[in-house]
Amino acid sequence: MAKLIDGRAIAKKVYVDLRREIGELKARGVTPGLAVVLVGDNPASRAYVRSKDKMCRELGLHSVKLELPASTTQKELLERVKELNRNSSVHGILIQSPPPEHIDEAAIVRALDPRKDVDGFHPENVAKLVLDDASGFVPCTPLGVQRLLTESKIEINGAHVVVLGRSMIVGKPLALLLMQKNRNGNATVTVVHSRSRDLAEITRSADIIVAAIGRAEFVKADHVREGAVVIDVGINRVEDAASERGYRLVGDVAFDEVSKKASAITPVPGGVGPMTIAMLMANTLKAARQ
Ligand code: NDP
Repeated sequence: MAKLIDGRAIAKKVYVDLRREIGELKARGVTPGLAVVLVGDNPASRAYVRSKDKMCRELGLHSVKLELPASTTQKELLERVKELNRNSSVHGILIQSPPPEHIDEAAIVRALDPRKDVDGFHPENVAKLVLDDASGFVPCTPLGVQRLLTESKIEINGAHVVVLGRSMIVGKPLALLLMQKNRNGNATVTVVHSRSRDLAEITRSADIIVAAIGRAEFVKADHVREGAVVIDVGINRVEDAASERGYRLVGDVAFDEVSKKASAITPVPGGVGPMTIAMLMANTLKAARQ
């Protein structure tokens, strides 16, 4: 039976370190500040924004929550971003995705001051990730996955990591991060996606599998070799009449069967999710320090 990688417990440990660093910064007169911008009323986005705001407050960070109506124009949003760029009490800015359809998200991200881009989506930060330049910001979910591995003493160095998914939020930056030439990288990375041939054959050769495709319980025991480490990024709703909400959350990995074969595995929920928000707080602190 696989060892459970407890994302909540590891995130708690991260917060202990962050609290100490926040205390040090405050003693020097700097309160790290994060602004989260939400356009429209997508309920899932609203919930994410609430939890980020709550975490900021718990840590004693300065939190700015900007909730704009769905009718906000591109020009108005750009203006608000520029104001936040100029606001010296705001060190990190996050534009909650996805914005309404009439908004050109890429243009908004490009308008961010890259030094405040704690999501790591600005082209300058993407370039820094490719260039192994540690001064840039790395997207929070990939950073959280790496931290889960290092805190669990799982060797990344020299390992074959197979990443399922090539999105700009998870798969692609994670692949770049784990192949960086440093002690928390040095992996041999393979990325598979919806067009990959012989996917199961490739995943079976992995020491570490990271699933980020958004397909409920897609990764089965047959995809995994005995003793591999499995990190499940997926968050999928599946109907469940027995649940009060009418649905339950499952990952991209069929947990019950895969956990019998893997040496370590993350649960959903309680695996990667809590780390993503912890890394957002860590990036905000990094922005304030810089
Ligand atoms: P996207 O939809 O942007 O990307 C999905 C990727 O998976 C694409 O590259 C796609 O391939 C690939 N894919 C889809 N179906 C298959 C398949 N059948 N076989 C192989 N590859 C496939 O998703 P995200 O990266 O944004 O998110 C992935 C999952 O992670 C979602 O469940 C999301 O909810 C979750 N998530 C969780 C976070 C957390 O904090 N825990 C944070 C962010 C996301 P192609 O490129 O060819 O289309």
